Amino acid sequence: MRKTAVFKDRLFLMHDPGANHPERIDRLRVIYDVVERPEVREKFLFPVADPAQPEQIQAVHDQAQFDRVSRTQGKDFDILDADTTTSSRSYEAALLAAGSVMKGIDMMMSGDADNGFALVRPPGHHAERDRSMGFCLFNNVAIAARHAQRAHQLDRVMIIDWDLHHGNGTQFSFYGEKEVLYLSTHQYPYYPGTGNVAEVGVGDGEGYTVNVPLSPGCGDLEYAAIFNEIIIPIGISYQPQLILVSAGFDIYHGDPLGGMSVSPAGFAYMTKTLVGLADTCCDGRILVTLEGGYNLKGQRDGAVAVLAELLGEPLNTEGLGAYLSDELDQQMSKATVSRLEVTEVKDALAKYWPYQ
Ligand SMILES: [Zn+2]
Repeated sequence: MRKTAVFKDRLFLMHDPGANHPERIDRLRVIYDVVERPEVREKFLFPVADPAQPEQIQAVHDQAQFDRVSRTQGKDFDILDADTTTSSRSYEAALLAAGSVMKGIDMMMSGDADNGFALVRPPGHHAERDRSMGFCLFNNVAIAARHAQRAHQLDRVMIIDWDLHHGNGTQFSFYGEKEVLYLSTHQYPYYPGTGNVAEVGVGDGEGYTVNVPLSPGCGDLEYAAIFNEIIIPIGISYQPQLILVSAGFDIYHGDPLGGMSVSPAGFAYMTKTLVGLADTCCDGRILVTLEGGYNLKGQRDGAVAVLAELLGEPLNTEGLGAYLSDELDQQMSKATVSRLEVTEVKDALAKYWPYQ
């Protein structure tokens, strides 16, 4: 059993984007309800994080963007973008969300934790240097990757983003550098419009942005194949010192916003392969951060699957199982890329990543 740090805080349940907004409080509450069960709680560490400092946020976002978000503090309702709205404590929650991911990195670097899961809201991966968008205020994972560079002198950080949507904000934060490798699987074309396979980075960063755009209908075996044949081989070649995951459960088969069909076993398998990659490359250092996901059962079961794989054993709690049976594990570990569109992506990326 590993030392897995879980970041949770009541503040993350106080960011309220308003009635009928899909990024609602319950999507985190259903996960907390499981994590708070005594038999689950005793398995994890629950560190207390500090809010991110303004200069840490501004390692990714410009001053005007920081100010726009900070001015929402104390207001019952404010609008940052057509679908990004805030309540009085959203700003504080956003600072603590970024601070939690940074704390997770600090704990792994010091050996106080082996890995972790930041169960935070608001999400982050759409937030760009100069704007909040797509339910995201500050880019939690990008801010944390910058922190890993500055506070821990890391020069190879790998970010895997399996959210349904392309993480435009994260991609563009590191588009011109090789010190952060960004890999995304996402439904395409779809919101936010970016994430074509031809977006590979610029200058020193060319090849260090990897996009796997997908048409709807991909399930466990398709995702397993992409991890087996594209993501893990690229990771082994890159040899990251730290792995960060933008985990969206909106690729779950019942998600109202998405067209993918991943089950909890699929989430378990993807996590398992990345834990293995982290063991191979960086003493097991992998930190998962919650992004999207809009089906409450998908949120809960997906998060349980990820937590179990991080921990290295099933949670053994009522009604929520070990989702990855040996049989499914074997099936997925043998999965190979079969969709023509994915084969084409793999071939296009071979220019940068020869998959030896
Ligand atoms: Zn999403």
